[in-house]
Amino acid sequence: MKFAFVGTGMIGSGLAVNAAMRGQDVVLYDVVETEKVKGTVRKVLDILVEAGAMDQAKADETIASMGFTQDLAEAVTGADFVQECVPERLELKQSTYRQIQEICGDKVVIASSTSGMFPSALSEGALYPQNIIVGHPYNPSYLLPLIEICGPQASQETIDKAIEAYKAMGKEPVVCKKEVTGFIVNSLSWGVLDDGIQKVLDGVCDVEDVDKAIMYGPGMRMAITGQLLTMSMGVQGGFRVMAEKYGATAARRPEQIPHYPEIEDGVEAEIANRTEQQGQDLDAITKFRDKAFVEILKLQGKL
Ligand code: NAD
Repeated sequence: MKFAFVGTGMIGSGLAVNAAMRGQDVVLYDVVETEKVKGTVRKVLDILVEAGAMDQAKADETIASMGFTQDLAEAVTGADFVQECVPERLELKQSTYRQIQEICGDKVVIASSTSGMFPSALSEGALYPQNIIVGHPYNPSYLLPLIEICGPQASQETIDKAIEAYKAMGKEPVVCKKEVTGFIVNSLSWGVLDDGIQKVLDGVCDVEDVDKAIMYGPGMRMAITGQLLTMSMGVQGGFRVMAEKYGATAARRPEQIPHYPEIEDGVEAEIANRTEQQGQDLDAITKFRDKAFVEILKLQGKL
């Protein structure tokens, strides 16, 4: 698959490295000189080598496989997938898409790295708005697998191609079906952030204890089983019995949860979709989780 990365600061370079290290055909385009872009890519690769994600030989091979250009047409011609990572300015993003679509026609999917702009605005005035989506990475983009795809105005073919492209880059795409502020992940984390700040301001606890309360508890569980599966695993029978067993304090919305079978059905689908390594039933998932906890605790010097 041919990938073009348009705008190659930390986000663009990080994502380009992800694709290239997995053997994809990668070209980076930026308005700044190629030597500067290569410097950013080397910085990302140095981080990955130092952190043990790859050795120096693999890093050298990765950068040697990447194409660099200051010519947009050269970068996007023949591309299957364009990841746009230019600065967060609507007119700049829109004019970039117009140029790309004039060069590529309706054959290429364009994904924006934007954290805050909606695809309906980004695709306004585009030649092929159905080919434009948000593909929001999460920092550090060169390590964290999450990509949020959002494109209610995009065609299903575009969404499917984007999922395929991100999987080829080693990413874990999730689909945000509606245009909501913060998409999925920032919206979720803002909930915790706002409540954490409020707890400090209300004198409930110190800053450090807000963070420890996440790091040494729910944060560890969330890393392995998210939030909804985690809660469902907390009681045999999952959400369906949680309310009656633990009452309002634990279940939060005891009168509602039993009436939302899509939550428990969704948890069951999530279990079935996990890899064999991550476990596909509660016993296997629990064993995987506990092994992962031991590794994290060793890294944190707690074991
Ligand atoms: P950055 O400033 O590090 O990089 C932007 C790059 O775009 C620079 O290399 C710049 O030279 C280049 N550029 C400027 N004008 C250009 C043009 N006309 N054509 C091509 N390239 C051009 O910014 P970043 O942090 O990498 O952010 C890029 C996008 O990713 C933004 O939309 C941002 O909101 C989004 N994003 C950022 C983060 C983050 O934590 N930094 C996280 C998620 C998403």
